[in-house]
Amino acid sequence: MTYQHSQYYEDASIASVLADVARAHRILEIEGHADMSMGHLSYRDPFGRGLWLKRGNLALSEVEGDDFILIDFDGNVLEGTGLRHLEWPLHAEIMKARPDVNFVGHSHPHFATVLGASTEELKPYNNHGIWFAYEGVPRFAETCHIITTVPLGVAAAKALGNAQALLLANHGVAFVGKTVPEVTLAGIFLEKAARFQVDLKASGFTPIEPDPEEAKEKFDRIYPPKAQHNFWTFFNRRLDRVEALQGIGISQISLPPGV
Ligand SMILES: [Zn+2]
Repeated sequence: MTYQHSQYYEDASIASVLADVARAHRILEIEGHADMSMGHLSYRDPFGRGLWLKRGNLALSEVEGDDFILIDFDGNVLEGTGLRHLEWPLHAEIMKARPDVNFVGHSHPHFATVLGASTEELKPYNNHGIWFAYEGVPRFAETCHIITTVPLGVAAAKALGNAQALLLANHGVAFVGKTVPEVTLAGIFLEKAARFQVDLKASGFTPIEPDPEEAKEKFDRIYPPKAQHNFWTFFNRRLDRVEALQGIGISQISLPPGV
C-alpha cells in the first residue's frame, strides 16, 4: 500500500510506526485473530503522552495508518477522531506496569480463547509454543468480562507479570512486545501454539513433555532478533500478496495456492 500520514500526526516517525502497527493488525486478521470489528493494538507514545490505540468500528483487516487515536493513561482522547475502544484500560495499565513494553495487542483468536476457557496450561509442544518458553502464558480468570475498568486493567496487568502473553478466560488474549515484529509474532505464535495443543490433546495421543530448560535454549536458538525480522518480513510479503489480490478489508481470507 502507499501510506500517507495524516496531518494530525505532528511527528513523521510516529506515522511511520503506526503504518507498521496498522499492517500488524491486517496480518493478525489473516493469522486467525479476526472477530468482526473487535481486537486492537496500541503503541506507546514516544513523547510520554500516553498511547496510540486503534479506533473502534473497524475490523483488524481494515486498519490503516491514520486509524489511531492518542489517549493519555486515564483514557482522555488527546488526538484523532473515532470511537475509543471500551477496553482501553487493558492497554493503559499494561503499559504502566511494563516499561519494557511499547506495543500491546488484544484480540479474540479462536484456539487461544478455547485454551483460555479451560484450565489447560499452554506448553512448548511445538516451535510456536517455544516463543513463550521463558515466562509461560498466564491466565486471568477473575472475570469472564471484557476489561473496561481501571481496576480490571490493573488486575490483568498483574496477571500478565513479565510474560509475553495472557489468556483472558472466556474472552480472548493480550500480548505484548518491545517492537512491532515482537508483538505481532507473539500474537501469531500464541494462536498457532494453542491450535497445535488443542489438536494434540484432541488426537488422544500421549504428548511428549518438553524439558523446560531445553525449551528456553531452543527459544534463544530459533528466535534471535534476526529471525524475528525475517519472520516479520515474511508476513509482510504475504500481506502484500493477499492485498494485491483482494485489497484491504477482506475479513475472512482463504489464501489461493502459492500465496
Ligand atoms: Zn475483548
